Amino acid sequence: MIQRLNEARAALKKTFGYDDFRPGQAEVIGAVLDGTDVFAVMPTGSGKSMTYQLPALMGDGLTVVISPLIALMHDQVQQMVGFGVEAATLNSTIAETAARETWRKIRSGELRLLFVSPERLLMDGCMEALRSAGVQRLAVDEAHCVSQWGHDFRPEYREIARAREALGNVQTLALTATADAATRTDIAERLFPTGREAKTFVHSFDRPNIRLTFAAKDNPTRQLERFLRNRRAESGIIYCSSRKRVEQLAETLKGDGFNALPYHAGLDQGTRMRNQDTFLQEDGVVMTATVAFGMGINKPDVRFVCHADMPTNVEGYYQEIGRAGRDGLPADTLTLYGLDDMSLRRRQIDEKEVPDERRRVERRKLEAMISLCEGAACRRQSLLSYFGESSEPCGRCDLCRGGVALIDGTVEAQKLLSAIVRTGQRFGAAYVCDVVHGKESEPIRKNGHGQLKTFGVGADKPVAAWRAILRQLFAAGAVAENGDGYGGLTMTEKGEAILFGRETMQVRPDPEPRKAEPRSRRG
Ligand code: ADP
Ligand code: ZN
Repeated sequence: MIQRLNEARAALKKTFGYDDFRPGQAEVIGAVLDGTDVFAVMPTGSGKSMTYQLPALMGDGLTVVISPLIALMHDQVQQMVGFGVEAATLNSTIAETAARETWRKIRSGELRLLFVSPERLLMDGCMEALRSAGVQRLAVDEAHCVSQWGHDFRPEYREIARAREALGNVQTLALTATADAATRTDIAERLFPTGREAKTFVHSFDRPNIRLTFAAKDNPTRQLERFLRNRRAESGIIYCSSRKRVEQLAETLKGDGFNALPYHAGLDQGTRMRNQDTFLQEDGVVMTATVAFGMGINKPDVRFVCHADMPTNVEGYYQEIGRAGRDGLPADTLTLYGLDDMSLRRRQIDEKEVPDERRRVERRKLEAMISLCEGAACRRQSLLSYFGESSEPCGRCDLCRGGVALIDGTVEAQKLLSAIVRTGQRFGAAYVCDVVHGKESEPIRKNGHGQLKTFGVGADKPVAAWRAILRQLFAAGAVAENGDGYGGLTMTEKGEAILFGRETMQVRPDPEPRKAEPRSRRG
């Protein structure tokens, strides 16, 4: 094993010119060389592709790489060919002569890496031809696309398990940058056959060079302009939640003298390509974009990533900010969020025509995103804890740098915790806050909870303020979901310590009433 890894390191140096593995790569490559199925969760920019590229060029079999985007495949093939590795792609944009040459190389055993989309793999006779030529392993890039719980579901990815079987149940390596525990389980179940457990690696998601800052929306355009003021020479991305906003913001920033360009799926392909190329090739370009922009974009010196609107969920947020600072140098982020975002997202989830289970998953993801925005503890700590990692306060995010002065909220916390306990640890956030605020809704009356001692103890604050504190309790781990799948809350040990005065609870002061943005700004 050590022997094989030393060989791998030598090949890394010889073919790619890199001196050593990046953190996490060696373990994964070792397992791949061992021949086992592997599931690797590694952050963007950590060098995931190397974990199939290197084993492919070390052996003499064929590695089939499944990738969701044609542009991504072309880049990789070019890169590999540049390094002298036999690689090719098959897709609808490939000329017939080139495709014939690729098939020849597959049959003769010359080809090391074949990049295909899942659709292409499933097309007429492709799998049979590959099977008879012999495939050594399958690498599934962007494996989260297989899960509806991830943020980028592609139905075609559901066929991969079948394809793997058709290829002769070959060794499979699945790679993704972003997956919370639930999505991870889902990916593993969908890609790997039962009874053949994949060796799983989860590499740290920490990106210490990326500074995290959040701010409640006040005047978003002005907030962004202030952020950009001293960054005229830097390249960055500003994500917006609607196409209309993307275009508006690009116009406004251009008016301010920035080299700003829009990108969203509604622009014609020529414009999109042109803007993307300008961003990749020039310095000091600000791309205002929807989340359609960025997958597979490999620009190491993106110095900032902003969100003009609250990201949809934590995975998306992580992936988007992860496009900054891939060169390891300091990079900055600014995430704006508003009550308008939160209620818009809630409404969107409520109105979506999806099964209830799916709706609950999305609600949970939204709550986690909101907790991150409203959190009182270090942003990086909260973010990493979402991915199941514990860490120390970073000392650099807005909260660590004292962006908000925290006040003692122990008494308020106790009121909420007491309401949770007295209502039987069965109800969700909205219900609990109504009880504390003293709103006698129909269900509260029916349950007789209007008679509780805690009913109305918090009439002095608006319900929204109670929700903000409850979110912070949730973010601090004093309150957790009770697991009923409906968002019912329960008090944790930490919550108990607060309720009985053994611990105090610091909270953010009541949020300023925010002006809602006009609805017309969204599309
Ligand atoms: P990911 O898919 O994890 O986002 P990539 O596989 O695209 O990341 O790799 C990002 C960059 O890092 C690529 O340009 C790649 O060539 C480079 N890279 C990969 N492994 C190493 C290494 N061991 N040393 C230096 N650079 C590496
Ligand atoms: Zn911090």
